[in-house]
Amino acid sequence: MAEMRRQSLVKFDAPLCETIVETPTPTAKEVLVRVERCGLCHSDLHIQDGYADLGGGRKLDTTRGMTLPFTLGHEIAGIVEEVGPEVSKDLIGSRKAVFPWIGCGQCRDCANGDENLCLRQRFLGVAIDGGFASHVLVPDAKYLLDYDPLPVDQAATMMCSGVTAFGALKRLLGRPRQRNLLLIGLGGVGMMGLAFAQTMFKQKISVADLSAAAREAALRNGADVAYDPSEADVVKRAIRETEGGFDEIVDFAGNEKSMGFAVSVVARGGKIVVSGLMGGNFSLPMVQWIYKRMTIEGFMVGTLAEAYELMALARAGRIKPTPMQEQPMGEAQKWIDQLRAGKVVGRIVLKN
Ligand SMILES: [Zn+2]
Ligand SMILES: [Zn+2]
Repeated sequence: MAEMRRQSLVKFDAPLCETIVETPTPTAKEVLVRVERCGLCHSDLHIQDGYADLGGGRKLDTTRGMTLPFTLGHEIAGIVEEVGPEVSKDLIGSRKAVFPWIGCGQCRDCANGDENLCLRQRFLGVAIDGGFASHVLVPDAKYLLDYDPLPVDQAATMMCSGVTAFGALKRLLGRPRQRNLLLIGLGGVGMMGLAFAQTMFKQKISVADLSAAAREAALRNGADVAYDPSEADVVKRAIRETEGGFDEIVDFAGNEKSMGFAVSVVARGGKIVVSGLMGGNFSLPMVQWIYKRMTIEGFMVGTLAEAYELMALARAGRIKPTPMQEQPMGEAQKWIDQLRAGKVVGRIVLKN
């Protein structure tokens, strides 16, 4: 039996290490994919830590149901190597992006196509073994998407940062006032959001990030205005320049400061979608919420239908590629450390 290599989490809050096991044999509807690329996501850091920051020193345990060693990585693209007996052998050898947000397939949310809401989810690289490995076992071929003629890196990153940014932005479509849009937090997801927003929205796009390098990258990649939230009087300036604030905001960072900035610059009747998971605890005076008639919606990952929709847009050439850099899979931990230190612009994609 062939062996597979994994960059495994063997202990929470400790560096990944390489483990070698037998390559699994797919049963029933399962598909074995040889991983070509796997993107590195900020949420991989939280999974490695074993908790999410709730603010005030409180932590949410995210280790529930996980058995170690565990393989992280949920932005996967690869080649079908073997299929279970219920899957057509024609799939073998095809190059696919792997949708990771897989539900139980049994509950009411899964039945509605909202597998991303499933409580008994089987998210790849989050609840079951993911793509920081030579191979990944996928529960069903329906989670495999064609991506030709896109580059494999772009295909892989569509599956988390892509579908997250796309889904978050979709929640701002069809609003009554669409005069301006602000994207806060220009990490891998935010930069993708910027690319999609240029296809999905007609209005001027502003961005905000503490990092000058990220703001410059955003301005080079289609943003009209870039704000530094730490600048003195930035809120006043943004309100003045937008004639009353932003109708639509996505907070791709999702921490106390980014949300504080979002609620100070949202227009009356505006909406904020929060999809970042940097964590912390955010408080908002009730009267400010009500006076401003603001809507705040939390959003995480996307549905399989949204992934297919996004992939169709990308394959039709309607989405500009975002900054990415390939690094060896064996250096997964080194790049996790770089990401933790805030030293990464764009997306890191690990290559086998
Ligand atoms: Zn992710
Ligand atoms: Zn379910």
